[in-house]
Amino acid sequence: MTQNSSLPKSADYVIIGAGMHGLSTAYHLACLQPNKSIVIIDKGELNEGATSIACGVVRNNYYQPAMRKLMAHSVDVWEQHQKELHYHPVGYMQISMEAMHEDVASIYEQQKAIGYESVFIEGEKDSRDYMLNLFDDWQAPNITSVLHEKRGGFSHNTLAVTGLAKMATDKGVIIVTQAEVTELEKSNTSNAISKVHTVKGAIECEQLIIAPGPWVRTFWKMLDLPDYIDLLGADGKLHNTRMWHYWMLQEGVLEVDPSMLVTNDGKVPPVLHVDSDAPLHSDSTGKLLMEEPWGIYYKPDAHFGGIQGGFAPYPLTEDLDDVSVDPYGHKSKKYLVTREFIDVWCSALAACQKRFEGLTPKYKDVPSGGLGCLTPDSFPVFDVFSENAYVIADANHGYKMLGVGKLVAEDLCGKSSDLLEPFRFSRYAEGKLHPLSNSPFPWS
Ligand SMILES: Cc1cc2nc3c(=O)[nH]c(=O)nc-3n(C[C@H](O)[C@H](O)[C@H](O)COP(=O)(O)OP(=O)(O)OC[C@H]3O[C@@H](n4cnc5c(N)ncnc54)[C@H](O)[C@@H]3O)c2cc1C
Repeated sequence: MTQNSSLPKSADYVIIGAGMHGLSTAYHLACLQPNKSIVIIDKGELNEGATSIACGVVRNNYYQPAMRKLMAHSVDVWEQHQKELHYHPVGYMQISMEAMHEDVASIYEQQKAIGYESVFIEGEKDSRDYMLNLFDDWQAPNITSVLHEKRGGFSHNTLAVTGLAKMATDKGVIIVTQAEVTELEKSNTSNAISKVHTVKGAIECEQLIIAPGPWVRTFWKMLDLPDYIDLLGADGKLHNTRMWHYWMLQEGVLEVDPSMLVTNDGKVPPVLHVDSDAPLHSDSTGKLLMEEPWGIYYKPDAHFGGIQGGFAPYPLTEDLDDVSVDPYGHKSKKYLVTREFIDVWCSALAACQKRFEGLTPKYKDVPSGGLGCLTPDSFPVFDVFSENAYVIADANHGYKMLGVGKLVAEDLCGKSSDLLEPFRFSRYAEGKLHPLSNSPFPWS
């Protein structure tokens, strides 16, 4: 794999951000247009953005029809590159409390309609029997439905980035690291961005793709786009709404042999996501931790060195202008999981499966978790601004959305897809918002 230290003077396509979306767009553009020059610019090295700290879960389970179709397309792309991207197609399970029953039933119906294979179990007894058939220590309380997606799974985050970067550079894409973008210069004759300024000099471009993950606000400002936008609500009125919101993602690892979590017949299990409304008590002290609904996800993951997963995220309450995205991820001093997370996640694991009881002391106490940047409705925006700047703002849904880069590349080559249309920016002013589910997660 080649990474350039110097910045070329110009390129047909300049892509900002070497995360999942920048790399995927570059690879697919290079496949479609082998004679065009494609340069990716990143301010850090590979594996310093959100993609490299993601849990790596790939699933279809979405209440919003447009998201579900997009994820089905992305799962196809994961399956095409299983080996290079260290993808484990073990499946995914949404195991839910009664308040989510109807929503998940509708997800199942719509998965059937688009030919995405899944099994749906309803009722407390049948759900428990189904889970006990997989794990003989299953004990999660207040579960009344199970959606078992036969496709999806997870992939090892940093290995997937390296694999995708190799796929792109093998096709001739140039990646320039340590080249922070400082300014986007407009052409003299139009509104288009003609030059990208970086700390390593400037590069001229025909077409710009901006895939900056949680740093999207920086580029929104560079494109002279507003902090507050008009959103047409269900009440028929326009609401002046903040465009970007930060959420803290809480994830961690139980440092045990990953093979302690296999199914009754010794296989690697699907990724498990459990949402329950039973009171959650501390597995260490018995103290009541939560009375409101809670949700966790987990999987055995050798790359993380144990059982890896997370708890529901929470929105940041401080003034957004005080949120500093840098230093990002595990280098952050501020946006990391706390002791409270450790207790709730480990206790929730123990509430789901007996094998996790008493294991809180095995929690791997290293920096973990990180920020995600969400839109007003918490769903992605894929759209063109300033004539030639294609912004991929995935609202933190994005590791699994490998296929978005393929769709954007096709869109840029004149073959636009209906899958992208529900994610255009104009949906806010037009009130064409995605429906919301009863999940405790903002992206289900
Ligand atoms: C803790 C956590 C767990 C997650 N788990 C999952 C999961 O299991 N499944 C899932 O689907 N999603 C998950 N996500 C969301 C997912 O990680 C992101 O949505 C996705 O990785 C974003 O990809 P990206 O390419 O847009 O951004 P990134 O991977 O963040 O890449 C953006 C790049 O832009 C670069 N950049 C920023 N500013 C500049 C600049 N000025 N100049 C040059 N370069 C710049 C950055 O250095 C970075 O490398 C998780 C997120 C977090 C935080």
